[in-house]
Amino acid sequence: MEAHKELLLANKAWVQEKLKIRPDFFERQVETQSPDFLWIGCSDSRVPAEDITGAEPGELFVHRNIANLVVHTDFNVLSVLQYAVEVLKVKHVIVCGHYNCGGVKNAMTRRDFGLLNKWLRHLKDVYRINRDHIDSIADPQARWDRLVEMNVTEQVQNLAKTSIVQRAWRLEQRPMLHGWVYDLRTGYLKELALIRPNTKIDDIYQFEWDYQDSPETTASSPDGSLSLKSP
Ligand SMILES: [Zn+2]
Repeated sequence: MEAHKELLLANKAWVQEKLKIRPDFFERQVETQSPDFLWIGCSDSRVPAEDITGAEPGELFVHRNIANLVVHTDFNVLSVLQYAVEVLKVKHVIVCGHYNCGGVKNAMTRRDFGLLNKWLRHLKDVYRINRDHIDSIADPQARWDRLVEMNVTEQVQNLAKTSIVQRAWRLEQRPMLHGWVYDLRTGYLKELALIRPNTKIDDIYQFEWDYQDSPETTASSPDGSLSLKSP
């Protein structure tokens, strides 16, 4: 059988499995979603967010890209973050990296990857900032592991630097920001970083809120669930 047909067949079996446990499983999902978590992970096929956390459909709002980066000019990740924080009102945002991350490894080389160079640049910056520490580690695998960890910590800090997160912290004392790393070798997740709402970050990244939230500067969605500040 062609490989893609196996996926379609597996889907049929999955539907039957879900219906066996709960006949109204899919009907219940149709109306809305209210996940507590935004998951920002690596695109790596070995790190499926729902599988490794035992989450069911509806529990995780997921964004994945190469090496789980939170780039402040990436409209994709920022749009996902804004929707998750301001509309879905998630309580937690998790950045999850993983050991043996190819993106991290390649960023430590001088190889030319074409367009991908631009994405890996963000990882090279993390490496450059921590170069002394990382280069002091003799074992290549341990050095790679360490950059994976430092990248996760850096991306969690990048979340805290966004006005999206800072506004939600100020108005609603959420979300909590988490940095985790997944170990492909054991299957276990490890906690690396935790930033609670209203944690003071470096001054230069801290926005000044010198205006009041008012109807003139707030937009609402038709159902009233969306409350966004004008840019
Ligand atoms: Zn990866």
